[in-house]
Amino acid sequence: MAESGGESLWNAVLDKLKAELGDSEFNEWFSAAEYLAFDEKKLSAGFPSAFHRERVKKKYLSSIAAKLREISGREISLELEVPAKKGAKKAEQASNETEQADSSREAAPRTEQAALKEESAAPKRGQHPHLRDDYTFERYVSGENNNFAFNAAKAISKNPGTNYNPFFIYGGVGLGKTHLMQAIGNFLHENSDKKVTYITSEDFLNEYVEAVRENKTSPFKNKFRRGDVLMIDDVQFFADKPGVQEELFHTFNAVLQAKKQIVFTCDRPPSDLKKFESRLLSRFDQGLKVDLLPPRYEMRMAILRATAKIRGVEISDDVIDFISKKISSNVRDLLGALKTVIAYTELMGKKATLEIAQKTLKDALSTTKQTNLSIDTIQKVVSTHFSVSVNDLKGKKRNQNIVYPRQLAMYICREMTEYSSTEIGEAFGGRDHATVLYSFEKIRARFVTDATLDSTIENLKRQVKDMAAKL
Ligand code: ADP
Ligand code: MG
Repeated sequence: MAESGGESLWNAVLDKLKAELGDSEFNEWFSAAEYLAFDEKKLSAGFPSAFHRERVKKKYLSSIAAKLREISGREISLELEVPAKKGAKKAEQASNETEQADSSREAAPRTEQAALKEESAAPKRGQHPHLRDDYTFERYVSGENNNFAFNAAKAISKNPGTNYNPFFIYGGVGLGKTHLMQAIGNFLHENSDKKVTYITSEDFLNEYVEAVRENKTSPFKNKFRRGDVLMIDDVQFFADKPGVQEELFHTFNAVLQAKKQIVFTCDRPPSDLKKFESRLLSRFDQGLKVDLLPPRYEMRMAILRATAKIRGVEISDDVIDFISKKISSNVRDLLGALKTVIAYTELMGKKATLEIAQKTLKDALSTTKQTNLSIDTIQKVVSTHFSVSVNDLKGKKRNQNIVYPRQLAMYICREMTEYSSTEIGEAFGGRDHATVLYSFEKIRARFVTDATLDSTIENLKRQVKDMAAKL
């Protein structure tokens, strides 16, 4: 009980950190973190090296402590450790396993459980070092919002490099793109001798920049052309980066020519990508494109049920129903809420009643950034407050009584949602991202002269949350 409660608590802390820091910063410091132990007063977590541990301590210890307090409602001390290596043999196997051993980034997290499973079942290859072991087809719930993508992914995993090449998975934040892509990778890694190369676009860029700087572009090129399946996550990140786009274009051609499979994920369809070379866009377009949609209520119930079952926790139907109704944005938020409920109940040693779920979710909904807070809601609240129309916020008028609410609305969108400034700009009548950033800076500067601004913004934010909660 204490053990599993500790792990849930740690996972809930990680979820909050992830929401706060964003994927790339979070992954840099916490993807390799490992839950170790919990004894009611002290939680221990492991980090891969002393350097890593010291940096985390310095940068994040107080924030982690605050989250522990917030989630558990009491003081829990945190111990950061560097666990001893689990046998030199395994380490050696892992480094042979991957051509990415020189990558400066950490491998995907491997849970204790996964390591044990590996020992007892002794599969021919260990877990892939850059894929999450829980991102499998078995754990992917399929339904109306993702059936087509799911079936296509399975077909590709049985016959990579043949029919659907490249495979382009797109959809909004937290809808399961990375999971589905990695499921293909995990399947091939386990059931074939295909070499899977997985990389985020951000890491691809970083490694590329480094290779250019150190004049070592040929190892870089080889690394991505050598495998059998190349997976690049979140390619929207390459927007407006012509150097790396060109490199990707050549990599793409080489890999495709060798009849090897390519899989991309992206937060939007190729046709909506701006600031991309057209020859690259046409490459994205030439294979099979599939989209993932936000799950509807029934699907949300199914995902929650399946996940609770995997976690071995019993959650009553009214709680599942409540979470499904409350959180409609995406799967990540949905599962985040479930984890918070699980952590709370495990720590308190009581079964999750509806009241507990309502109480814990209320806090969770108000502290994390909400992706289901739509820009629409913010625009409505701001326009009502200043007695201007939503159309004026989106329109071109430049009088101060409209410009200020417009800038403020953009500011709140950046603060409260995970939309990019490009997306926010689009929602404000097709403005570009520089305009959004400019508005943000204008409002920031105004804090110095306007003593009431802080409370105005807090007030508006509260209204936005209330309105979103009623949707
Ligand atoms: P994206 O890459 O689209 O932002 P992820 O693949 O990271 O989203 O998914 C977010 C979370 O939701 C992950 O924990 C993932 O396992 C889970 N998830 C997404 N879709 C499903 C699904 N259909 N069934 C089960 N879990 C899912
Ligand atoms: Mg992703």
